[in-house]
Amino acid sequence: MKCPDVVIIGSGVGGGAVARQLAPTGARILILERGPRLPAEPENSSAEAVFIQQRYRAKEEWQTEAGRRFTPGQFYYVGGHTRFYGTAMFRFREKDFEEIVFRDGVSPAWPFSYTELEPWYAEAERIFGVHGRAGDDPTEPWRSGPYPHLPIPHEPVIGELAQRMAAIGLRPFHMPSAIDLHPGGTCVRCGTCDAFPCRIRAKGDAETRLIDPALQYPNVSLLTECRVTRLIADDAGKNIIGVEIVRQGEREVIHAPLFVLSAGAINSALLLQRSADSRNPRGLANSSDCVGRYYMNHNTTGLMALMPGVNETRFPKTLSVNDFYFGADDDREPLGNLQMLGKIQEPMIRAKHASIPRWVGRAMAHHSIDMLVMSEDLPHAQSTIRPLANDAVQVNWTRTNQDNHRRFVDRTKKLLRRLGAVAVLSHPFGVETPSHQCGTVRMGADPVHAALDPLCRTYDHPNLYVVDASFFPSSAALNPALTIAAQALRVGDHIARNWFGRERENVRPIEM
Ligand SMILES: Cc1cc2nc3c(=O)[nH]c(=O)nc-3n(C[C@H](O)[C@H](O)[C@H](O)COP(=O)(O)OP(=O)(O)OC[C@H]3O[C@@H](n4cnc5c(N)ncnc54)[C@H](O)[C@@H]3O)c2cc1C
Ligand code: SF4
Repeated sequence: MKCPDVVIIGSGVGGGAVARQLAPTGARILILERGPRLPAEPENSSAEAVFIQQRYRAKEEWQTEAGRRFTPGQFYYVGGHTRFYGTAMFRFREKDFEEIVFRDGVSPAWPFSYTELEPWYAEAERIFGVHGRAGDDPTEPWRSGPYPHLPIPHEPVIGELAQRMAAIGLRPFHMPSAIDLHPGGTCVRCGTCDAFPCRIRAKGDAETRLIDPALQYPNVSLLTECRVTRLIADDAGKNIIGVEIVRQGEREVIHAPLFVLSAGAINSALLLQRSADSRNPRGLANSSDCVGRYYMNHNTTGLMALMPGVNETRFPKTLSVNDFYFGADDDREPLGNLQMLGKIQEPMIRAKHASIPRWVGRAMAHHSIDMLVMSEDLPHAQSTIRPLANDAVQVNWTRTNQDNHRRFVDRTKKLLRRLGAVAVLSHPFGVETPSHQCGTVRMGADPVHAALDPLCRTYDHPNLYVVDASFFPSSAALNPALTIAAQALRVGDHIARNWFGRERENVRPIEM
């Protein structure tokens, strides 16, 4: 596309939602995505291919401050990380938007309330086709309407677990989920959803729900395998005038009047820092020194509860527990969320613990009920993402809120034993698993302490927005995708009105 009106960098939830909002304005929108379209192929649902061969992982190495190198769980495809996500689509709680004081630090307030985002949560749920039932989750925030679809029914083993939880006084609820499983839907409950791509496009991800609908408009184009290496500011260091891209080995500059950076929390922070110039020596949008700081990623531990009976569940992510989200009778600290993991298979165990014989791994996977324990990660000034020479990346994740998380894991293990588990094995996720990365270009009401204003526009550059998980001031203790989508739709609406006059219906989508 020659002379775009707006360039969007990245085709994940953030970039996709902005593109979808802007498409009907008729503005010429160019989306630049470093990855390709992910091919539909048998390996999509092979645990051997996904976990042992790591077929879809980015072939890059990062390092910790201590110099330990690792291959991160990063995925560069159209649709971004949602191609692999577990489809849990939670709204944050009202209190998550306010300051919460933890023993180990502060979860800062957002620059707007839940009420401001509520209509956009509703719109995001509609677009992604979220299933759920209002009124079941004891901590859920108010909502203006019901979920678009009824909750996904539990399979027998999970249904029985929910009943046993209820019998001891817990309030388990149907987890909000974005799979296309309802009359007329295309999901076949295939058994490989969480951490796998969907071969038949039945997962509500950013490719199927945002990018492809946007591309139906003649004014929207997508360039794949096009890596943005730098944003370029004018001589005054104020307005962004272009982006440098590398495509098929060729370097090129694309100019536009408006830019939306949505490369994911880690890559957006890297790109801004790599774009440093004489007027912006710490990087673009970084007069506050926040860019690349306050990295968060949740404290998460996977549990395998080994049960006497066999667990043949295909899609277990139908159950969640929030009874301990803000604490418990005997523990005043906020603990977090419990939710089912996708069904663990033997290759997933082998990928983490190569010494376990395959037959043992198979027996474990056959009998396990698998859960994720998730606690909030707090923003810390020394949690940093820094670009090094030769494209290397340093991730320095200063862990927070660990005591609360450990107590929550212990409590959950006890709970699972009480519910019939013979043993409960645990696996804490570390820096190699940046699935819930956020916070690295944070938003706030005060430009001294934040890089973005409450509508994700950079304080330093009037024509640059950053719209992906990097805008989070806090991480809450719930999965991030729906909140990214809601705020991106809100920002997209603002850009449509303020930059393009929002004549949304003057361009019709191309007939498919
Ligand atoms: C295995 C897994 C399971 C998950 N499960 C859940 C879940 O159940 N529920 C939930 O809410 N969240 C879940 N998440 C997290 C969720 O997927 C992410 O929070 C969300 O997708 C992030 O969206 P984003 O727009 O911030 O960034 P991304 O999805 O990372 O999108 C950024 C895009 O920018 C592209 N890009 C990066 N750098 C460049 C560059 N230099 N030039 C051009 N393009 C670039 C990337 O290829 C990518 O397409 C999961 C994540 C993983 C990995
Ligand atoms: S469970 Fe449904 S949505 Fe998920 S990967 Fe399988 S077919 Fe796709």
